[in-house]
Order: sequence, then structure tokens, then C-alpha cells
Amino acid sequence: MRKIGIVGAGQAGLQLGLGLLKNGYQVVITSNQTPDQIRNGRVTSSQCMFDRALENERALGIDFWKDAPPVEGIQFSLVPGGQTAMQWSSRLDRPAQSIDQRVKMPRWMTEFEKAGGELRIADVDMAGLEALEQECDLVIVASGKGEIGKLFQRDETRSPFDKPQRSLALTYVHGMEPRKEHSAVNFNLMPGVGEYFVFPALTLSGPCEIMVFEGIPGGPMDNWANVKSPQEHLAESLRILKEFVPEEYARSKDCVLTDDLGILAGRFPPTVRKPVLALPNGAVALGMGDSVCLNDPITGQGSNNASHCAAAYLTAILEHGDRPYDAAFMQATFDRYWDYAQFVVGWTNNMLLPPPEHMVKILGTAQQNQKVAHWFVNGFNDPRTYFPTITDPALTDAFLAEAMGAAA
Ligand SMILES: Cc1cc2nc3c(=O)[nH]c(=O)nc-3n(C[C@H](O)[C@H](O)[C@H](O)COP(=O)(O)OP(=O)(O)OC[C@H]3O[C@@H](n4cnc5c(N)ncnc54)[C@H](O)[C@@H]3O)c2cc1C
Repeated sequence: MRKIGIVGAGQAGLQLGLGLLKNGYQVVITSNQTPDQIRNGRVTSSQCMFDRALENERALGIDFWKDAPPVEGIQFSLVPGGQTAMQWSSRLDRPAQSIDQRVKMPRWMTEFEKAGGELRIADVDMAGLEALEQECDLVIVASGKGEIGKLFQRDETRSPFDKPQRSLALTYVHGMEPRKEHSAVNFNLMPGVGEYFVFPALTLSGPCEIMVFEGIPGGPMDNWANVKSPQEHLAESLRILKEFVPEEYARSKDCVLTDDLGILAGRFPPTVRKPVLALPNGAVALGMGDSVCLNDPITGQGSNNASHCAAAYLTAILEHGDRPYDAAFMQATFDRYWDYAQFVVGWTNNMLLPPPEHMVKILGTAQQNQKVAHWFVNGFNDPRTYFPTITDPALTDAFLAEAMGAAA
């Protein structure tokens, strides 16, 4: 029986590990946190996952949260100077969902062990990778933003930013007034300030709302370094809403934190890395998920990507049969994922820059045209559908003209 070693028990590592067990592989996952440490720790993400990624979980029978609050659509608002200048929404064809990773990962770790997987608790370093390689046929690093992932070489050609593009913060709350229509991600663009989005989720204490702040570094939404307590974090969240997104403030002003660890602040540069790591002993390891393809959360794609990466790697491993897992296999396996991920990375990196005129046109047309609104909203489920339309003003014009013609 082939033995696969995985470093990291997140969306990528656990989904792959559970998938491999189902297919008769022997799997070791090493995590630097116990299930209890994850459950009792800080939130890590807002982890909104769209239908295609959720389907990967359904296919493995690990979709344990069918009753979690659905995210049924996406609303876009342009809010310059605190005034709503544009607003529209559309439904997702199938709902999205966000399960707090403190709820999901401990459950998946338990399921992994129940299914015969070996869960080890250790912080793996280079020597640990070599030791794992000695006992496994294939070693995969799915360590997210963990230090060990930085051993993989940064891919300059695929990483246009060398600095963080946003100051990030999360605030998990109870007590927000629901949207009047269907549930949704409310995505607010505040030119020159940043972005704010919010949506329903499931956390340790039940249904909640997650506020996500994407502040332009050095701007008025980048004050988290001065926040000294959970209550100050909530107060800062509400200050931002009151000043820059008053419509959201109106339904949020009575919110309370879900828990003192339901907050997060930080920043990182989006980075793509070369997927094959040469170990000192001459062996190789394969990177997956955020460790080799880290995106800014502005488009809410990281967990989706991690899930698609795990699905692509599972297929590649199954198809590879008994052949050796050499560097060529590893590169081809990553390339298979990159066939998809390149579009997510391209779109996400574009969203971090001031929007070009043709993108503004798309968002403006969506306000009057449901076909365009539906296309843009459902593209979050599969960002490949934006391409090549969003790359070329002439293609955008042709797409919008056709949509407007159909509406007329
Ligand atoms: C503010 C914010 C908001 C986000 N919102 C969304 C969203 O709405 N939708 C979405 O799709 N994505 C979102 N993301 C991104 C998403 O959370 C990540 O892309 C996703 O969790 C990546 O999964 P992963 O398995 O690659 O890594 P991770 O989830 O980071 O898991 C890696 C695991 O490896 C462990 N580990 C690290 N180093 C070691 C080591 N040396 N040895 C052993 N274990 C180790 C870590 O402790 C961790 O448990 C957001 C991220 C942030 C920061």
C-alpha cells in the first residue's frame, strides 16, 4: 500500500488526506496544532466556499454542515465618501457556505483518524520533512502561511507584488440585522480606503456574521496595530463602518463578538511559489494550497483554491498508479492545479489594483442588467468564466453589448 505524508491539517491537507484514505492509501498527516488547540484558538479566515468547492466535499462525504447558514447571493456597492453611489445584487445558482475552521478542521481530524489515518502532532522542519520522506512514498507540504512553506522558492513571474496589498481584519459577530432579501455576501468598495465584505457563517457558538476588512495600507482602515483588546477591535470595526459604510453600520451597530478569539488582524503579500522543494538528502517534496499559491482574501478564493488543489492532487495521485513520485510528477501535478488557479490569481491580483475603466463598466452595467450581474456574481464559483472577457476592453464591450442587446 502506498504511503503519503502530508504536513498541515487545513482545508488542503485534510481534504486530500481524507480522499486518499477513501482510495486505500496509507496517510500520515502532521499538524502543529491538536484538534483542541484549533477549536480553542483564534479564527484564521472567513472561508466562504462556493458550490464547486463544496461539491468536492460532498463527493468525499465530508460535508457535515448541511444546516449551516447559506450564502445565497452577492451584493456589490460602491460607496465613495460614505455615500452609496451604486448597488446591485444577484443570486448564486447554488448557495455558498462558510464554516469556521475552528469547527471544521477538528471534526475532519477526528474523521481522518476514524478512517484509519495517522495524525501526528509536531511542527515539521526541514529535518522533519526528510524523516517523513524516508518513511513515505510521497511528501506533500500543505502548511498554509506556516514558515516551512517559505522553503519553496518564490515564483517571480507569477508573483507581481512583493508587499502586502491590504491590511486585513476579521470580526466574527452575533446580533447583526439580516439583509432584507436573500442572504448574501455584501461586498462594499470604498475608493481610496479599501473594501468591506460581510456574510453569514457558522462558528463555535452557532450562526454568526463575519466582517472582513481589506484596508489600503497606511489608509484610514489600517489602524489595527493600535487596537489593544477584543472590545477595541469591535469598536474599531464599528468606527470604520460608521464612517465609510453607514448602511452596513445601521444593521451592525448592536453586534457583539462571538468570542474574544473571533477576531484577527494581519497582512501578507500574495505569493506563488515553485511547487517542488529539493531536500538536502536529494529527495523532493510537493507544495499544495496556500503554501505555494497564497492569494489576498479580497475575492474570497483561498479555501476554494485549497479545495480544488486537493481535488486535482487526488486525481493526479490516483492516476499515477505505482510509478515513482519524482520531480516531474510533482511539477505536472501542480501544473494541473495551475491550469485552474492561474485564473483565480490573475483576477484576484487585478482586484487589488485600482479598477481599469472596462471593469468599472462591467460593475456599472450589472446594475441595470441582470444577465451581467448574474454572470459576475456566479463567477466567484468559477473565476475561469471571467476570462478572457475581463482582460481586454474590446472583449468587455462586446460582452456587454450582447447582454444589453438581449435585454432590449
Ligand atoms: C482574513 C482572511 C479571510 C479569508 N477569507 C476567505 C474566504 O472568505 N474564502 C476563501 O475561500 N478563503 C478565504 N481565506 C483564505 C483561506 O483561509 C486559506 O486560503 C485556506 O485556509 C488555505 O488552506 P490550506 O490548507 O492551504 O492552509 P491552512 O488553512 O493555513 O492550513 C495549514 C495548516 O498547517 C499547519 N502548519 C503550518 N506549518 C506547519 C508545520 N511546520 N508543521 C505542521 N503543521 C503546520 C497550520 O497550523 C494549519 O493548521 C481567507 C484568509 C484570510 C487571512
